[in-house]
Amino acid sequence: MLNFASIRTLLFDMDGVLYRGQTRLPGVPEILEFCQQRDIAYACITNNATMTPQQYEQKLAQMGIAMPGTRILTSALVTNRYLRDTYPPGTTIYAIGMRGLTEALFDDGYFVPQAERPHLVVQGADFELTYTKLKLGCLAIRHGARFIATNPDRTFPTEQGLIPGAGAIMAALQTATDVEPLVIGKPQPTMFRIALELLERVPEHTLVIGDRLDTDIAGARQAGLRSALMLSGVTGRADLETTPHQPDAVFEGLPQLLAAWQSADEYADDNQ
Ligand SMILES: [Mg+2]
Repeated sequence: MLNFASIRTLLFDMDGVLYRGQTRLPGVPEILEFCQQRDIAYACITNNATMTPQQYEQKLAQMGIAMPGTRILTSALVTNRYLRDTYPPGTTIYAIGMRGLTEALFDDGYFVPQAERPHLVVQGADFELTYTKLKLGCLAIRHGARFIATNPDRTFPTEQGLIPGAGAIMAALQTATDVEPLVIGKPQPTMFRIALELLERVPEHTLVIGDRLDTDIAGARQAGLRSALMLSGVTGRADLETTPHQPDAVFEGLPQLLAAWQSADEYADDNQ
């Protein structure tokens, strides 16, 4: 059972929690307002490294969700943060990815883009992937560059169905090099740890709200955080019977989570 009274921070997954495709899911403005009233810190964390926080802010605004880009943490930003903690300025990187990744890596000038003999190969999803990019990445890794992947998601949900994600490109490079990448995004704890560092909050009082068992819920558990599964995305109730990744609570969606929280509050007030 989830003890709502101890929750001071929420980390939202986005797709399947706040929206699905281009459609906002129920309860989003209400839970954000609730957070503001209660001084509960919140941020969005997404494995998707293709878009910048500003692009996400616009996408959310079009759906009527007011979420500043500063509260949106992509696996590209977390990758940059991790790499800065690990490598000195001037470290060279060959990046395979889209604007969400290249902007996060190179905009502040700390890292230097370089295709030949770079120190690192950093790879995310790339909708303009070419054989040349795979070849350069492969050669760099074979020459000793450290191989880093933003996230392990094998597919990407679209209106047409599932298409290859960052994990599929990662698998191609892995096959071509026999080198295993360091993976940054969920379910790795790095993503959650850095989100909490940025919010200046502690794991003990944090709830992760997500729709995927193998990333959101598994990652939350590994990072020592509580988790609530939303059935508004890719996971159904039947999946819970077969998974080792058990959440602390399960809700149909955000309205049901908010209602449970509010009734727990009333109960606490009545019993003071
Ligand atoms: Mg999701």
